[in-house]
Amino acid sequence: MATYEYRCDEDGAFEVTRALGTAEESVACPACMSEARRVFSPPMLTSTPRALGAAIDRAEKSAHEPEVVTSLPPAPARKRTPVLPLTPTLRRLPRP
Ligand SMILES: [Zn+2]
Repeated sequence: MATYEYRCDEDGAFEVTRALGTAEESVACPACMSEARRVFSPPMLTSTPRALGAAIDRAEKSAHEPEVVTSLPPAPARKRTPVLPLTPTLRRLPRP
């Protein structure tokens, strides 16, 4: 099953669930029974989380106004290699 979006001129958008590939070009509006045409919207963007929406906006904007880097990013803090506890099995392994 898939959800298809239709828009009525009077009542706005509504969704209809149909089997994949069986959506009609137009259906009757559930409110006024007039013809509502199918509309296409990007999937998952109607309830986009704020952070994802901001990331998408930023990606689109960067296509026209790339951000210019003028300095190096701050050096990352040095990461220490985690040390495993010396179990009897690990103690038998060769050491560098
Ligand atoms: Zn309607």
